[in-house]
Amino acid sequence: MRPLMNLDPILNPLNEAQRAAVSAPLVPVLVLAGAGSGKTRVLTHRIAWLIQAEHASPYSILAVTFTNKAAGEMRGRVEQILGAPPGVLWIGTFHGIAHRLLRLHWREAGLPQGFQILDSDDQQRLVKRIIRANDLDESRWEPREVQWFINSNKDEGRRPKDLKSGNDPTRAQMIRLYGLYEEACARAGVVDFAELLLRAYELWRDGPELLAHYRQRFRHVLVDEFQDTNSIQYAWLRLIAGPDGHPFAVGDDDQSIYRWRGARVENLQQFRRDYPTAKLYRLEQNYRSTAAILAAANGLIGHNSGRLGKTLWTNGEPGLPIQLYAAFNERDEAEFVARRVADYVAGGNRRGDVAVLYRSNAQSRAFEEAFIAGRIPYRVYGGLRFFERAEIKDSLAYLRLLSNRDDDAAYERVVNLPTRGIGERTIEGLREEARNAGISLWKAATARSDAQGGRTANALRGFQDLIDRLARETAGLALHEQIDHVLKESGLIEHHGREKAQDSPREGRGEMARSEARLENLAELVSAARSFGTESTDLELPPLEAFLAHAALESGERQSDAGEDGVQMMTLHMAKGLEFRFVFLCGMEEGLFPHNRCMSDLEALEEERRLCYVGMTRAMKHLYLTYAEQRRVHGMDTHPAPSRFIKEVPQDIVAEVRPRVQVARAVTAARMRREQPAAPAIRFRSEEPPPPGMRLGARVRHGKFGEGVVLNVEGSGPHARVQVSFEQQGTKWLMMQYANLEPL
Ligand code: ATP
Ligand code: MG
Repeated sequence: MRPLMNLDPILNPLNEAQRAAVSAPLVPVLVLAGAGSGKTRVLTHRIAWLIQAEHASPYSILAVTFTNKAAGEMRGRVEQILGAPPGVLWIGTFHGIAHRLLRLHWREAGLPQGFQILDSDDQQRLVKRIIRANDLDESRWEPREVQWFINSNKDEGRRPKDLKSGNDPTRAQMIRLYGLYEEACARAGVVDFAELLLRAYELWRDGPELLAHYRQRFRHVLVDEFQDTNSIQYAWLRLIAGPDGHPFAVGDDDQSIYRWRGARVENLQQFRRDYPTAKLYRLEQNYRSTAAILAAANGLIGHNSGRLGKTLWTNGEPGLPIQLYAAFNERDEAEFVARRVADYVAGGNRRGDVAVLYRSNAQSRAFEEAFIAGRIPYRVYGGLRFFERAEIKDSLAYLRLLSNRDDDAAYERVVNLPTRGIGERTIEGLREEARNAGISLWKAATARSDAQGGRTANALRGFQDLIDRLARETAGLALHEQIDHVLKESGLIEHHGREKAQDSPREGRGEMARSEARLENLAELVSAARSFGTESTDLELPPLEAFLAHAALESGERQSDAGEDGVQMMTLHMAKGLEFRFVFLCGMEEGLFPHNRCMSDLEALEEERRLCYVGMTRAMKHLYLTYAEQRRVHGMDTHPAPSRFIKEVPQDIVAEVRPRVQVARAVTAARMRREQPAAPAIRFRSEEPPPPGMRLGARVRHGKFGEGVVLNVEGSGPHARVQVSFEQQGTKWLMMQYANLEPL
């Protein structure tokens, strides 16, 4: 008999419903519950429960999360609950886990040992090359569409041979392109993101012994954010769980936001059909948000049809009303947010407690500018990510070639970078030779330089000698030394250094700053490799390959400069599963959110609404909705209507914060406030007059905090609140009713 474990640390921090789910018997389990009700917490505690109460070996646990960040946090939490490192838990994203499997079983999966991951940008470039090589018109065969065709078929588990054209010539052409693309990937030894999943699925489906081995091993399969699994992911889960297994899935149909990328919310119902013995648990208490935020989110999502239906309540504080700010334009919107952030920070909050969420990446720029002007550190998740910057991808391409010479995408990227006199025509010729002979560009170049003399052949040979030499010289070095060596010896550092030196004053400081930033990024790559070397737990891979995979798989989440406390900026899609004290949901305008593309299709519109629900339910204490009355889109001024989602929130819990300042529209409210602090009294949209004497910029005295200046006034009547910057005590929000402010 094993000693009885102390299960208190696992069960005590849970409510009754959560406890029931965590301590469920070993049967299939579906936890269906709304935002912030503790689904992720339940999943984490379930892992600890399996280890402690069911005596499961950490080795037998496979947990799938939505992001690598979430995986890291989950690992940390389990460790905390158990009071010791749990050991070899497999926790990761679907892509991360699939990748790990394929590395271990590359041979069975029919891949070269050093296969590389093609990110979606590189994938599109490859598709484009195939379209061109087949003399097809790119305006008729758009690379993006072909890419979408390929990926969505892979997501459904379909290879070209499984597809029928049904006498449709367009479709027939698409299928042919898919086939050509597959051949090109095979030649180059690369796999794209969708391929990782499909290949991992086929690996088990077609390898009964391997599958039996893993079923034996991963007796406990858990998955978070189950509503956003696609067909192939779910099929893969069912394979590993097996007909007699007990998968543990948690999800929320109201937060399904990846339908456009193949996610199938129907999997929630399918799960119950596939596992008729499944136990269903519902969690109804929300622990994250104030009552006002929850009421707003519930009111909004109530406008969707066909929901599975859940109740969600909170015991928490009522909280402040949802703040609605109508900005004059996107700059004013950003300045408003920046001012609020400054206030919160002055009030003792961390910048990291604030999230600015938006529908599309391009919206981040205005906020970045306002934050820079306000000297507010911030961090953008997504957007131009570190590992996606050109100079980083160039460097990685060299490294990829070192580990796999047949990686065509990498070869093309750097064969003439820095310039070596290898022109587009030469490369075009190589492509053709490679295609005809069914070999990689590297091999085609070898054949060419062996057979011919002349300048071009010499240049090609020179490049190959360089790569071979770098491979020899870096063998046995630590990862960061390898990278440092490659950067110097490849000429990349010199290349960017020269660019910097050539920057003439005429080109302005922008260019100069850019090449300097590129050099800094290269230096950062070396430090990233160094810390990767010490952090990495993926011991099964050689360090360089582990690092390359990390770069490809984690690029979406990489933080620009981790460590510093910064405002968190990200798209709504990236915000899933996270929580913040203060949330600004920005750009709440028709056309932007809901997005133009989605407005005429009811299903797409409902997905937008779910996305809005996800955004609102990230907020713990304060939720702001902001929109601009005028917005510049592609250089044109537009005058969008406020988003319908604003109106779908129960209006009695919304407070408008925009003071209606009586000035010409050309002057933004922000400038007004700066330049004429004592100017016009504010009029509120509500009927009641503003609190007397509380103009923006007015000086006031408080019994305890002393003298200060009014920065902001919100609401009216007994609920009015003012924000005052006190000379001694910093900025504070005060209730007019109780503050007894004395106008000076
Ligand atoms: P989402 O749908 O957004 O992914 P979720 O259902 O996964 O949310 P969690 O992130 O697990 O919810 O929990 C939301 C917040 O509530 C977290 O801060 C969590 O620590 C807290 N929480 C969950 N359950 C409890 C509880 N029983 N007691 C106190 N706090 C809790
Ligand atoms: Mg969660």
